[in-house]
Amino acid sequence: MHVQKKGIAILGSTGSIGTQALEVIESNPNYFDLQVLTAGSNVSLLIEQAKKYKPNTVVIANEEKYLELRNALEDFDIHVYAGSDALSQVVESKEVHVVLTALVGYAGLIPTIKAIESRKTIALANKETLVVAGELIKKLARKYQSNIYPVDSEHSAIFQCLMGEYKNPIEKIYLTASGGPFRGYSLEQLKTVTLKQALKHPNWSMGAKITIDSASMMNKGLEIIEAKWLFDLKEDQIDVIVHPQSIIHSIVQFEDGSMKAQMGLPDMKLPIQFALTYPDRLPSTFPRFNFLDYPQLNFEKPDVEVFTSLSLAREAMLMEGTAACSLNAANEIAVEAFLNEKISFLDILEVNEKVLKQINNQTSPSLTDYIDADKEARNFAKKLCGIN
Ligand code: NDP
Ligand code: MG
Repeated sequence: MHVQKKGIAILGSTGSIGTQALEVIESNPNYFDLQVLTAGSNVSLLIEQAKKYKPNTVVIANEEKYLELRNALEDFDIHVYAGSDALSQVVESKEVHVVLTALVGYAGLIPTIKAIESRKTIALANKETLVVAGELIKKLARKYQSNIYPVDSEHSAIFQCLMGEYKNPIEKIYLTASGGPFRGYSLEQLKTVTLKQALKHPNWSMGAKITIDSASMMNKGLEIIEAKWLFDLKEDQIDVIVHPQSIIHSIVQFEDGSMKAQMGLPDMKLPIQFALTYPDRLPSTFPRFNFLDYPQLNFEKPDVEVFTSLSLAREAMLMEGTAACSLNAANEIAVEAFLNEKISFLDILEVNEKVLKQINNQTSPSLTDYIDADKEARNFAKKLCGIN
């Protein structure tokens, strides 16, 4: 029996991870106490969620939507705020124990820092935070004794494989990758792929940005950097293996050669739930994996000549400093430009490469250095994409 329910804040409740987290919370009313919901600008869904789940507080980042939100929730006992400062402040409440960072992109950085400084447990979906400022985040997490539990399925798999292995060093890890919709494509074929094709992921239904990142394999590049910071690994300890069925979510290899893998159907609700309940495992009704439905599981080498995102991310990681922050900023701008059909699919890779090669790299960065590097890389990437 749990004497105290876990108070949860979901940053980004209207997104793919956020809505699935709400399903997890709804299924376990005796375990969770939903405190905070936040959205970027999808005010109608936030209103619907607030009325249904009755959290203590809601925040809409887009201040223009504040009145609509406040008026709709007038008859409810719910605090209503707007703006990105409010987003950072609401995580400080003492009723909040776990902060699920389910925002997309760089916007997650400051709220995550605030949550760490308030000594909250972080259920981290927003991988960009660790990509942008892993060095700083790790330092702060240590200082404020804040635990960071991964939501990303590969990292959750590694985390689960490491349970009970506290004293045993990792020899290496294998991050699995589905290969996305363009697995096996040549550079020539990638020249003409469309937005519609890129948005069609074979195994996962996710937000638009990560879906494009999966198609370009930048998602796996970001995940290499995420793994470095989460598990304290060197670049050559992190391997990527393409596994089209997405059943094995990742693998740890120990120094005696033993390998542990975590597997299951591709369903983000499981890693979301585990990050919220660790070290407990709650019963669930998620569909179970059946071996006979998958007589074959396949593995392939990623094509790093075509999908240059993987080596680009490794390069940024080895450069340290603000390099990965700049790469992330370039990628966010390029992906947005591709989603708005301003550039082609291969242009994303080109913009990322140009920015990483030409930008200043600031070593041992402070928060201000990250903020400056992000701004500079965004401006450069916008120029390359022909956007003002
Ligand atoms: P979505 O785009 O579906 O959702 C993003 C959420 O963040 C929405 O609630 C959105 O609000 C909010 N948001 C966006 N921009 C801002 C902003 N500037 N300020 C405040 N809030 C903002 O993304 P996903 O759920 O797919 O992904 C979330 C994170 O989780 C990403 O970092 C992704 O890499 C990671 N992740 C996702 C997986 C998945 O299966 N989806 C798997 C593994 C990791 P609004 O709806 O109002 O725009
Ligand atoms: Mg992942």
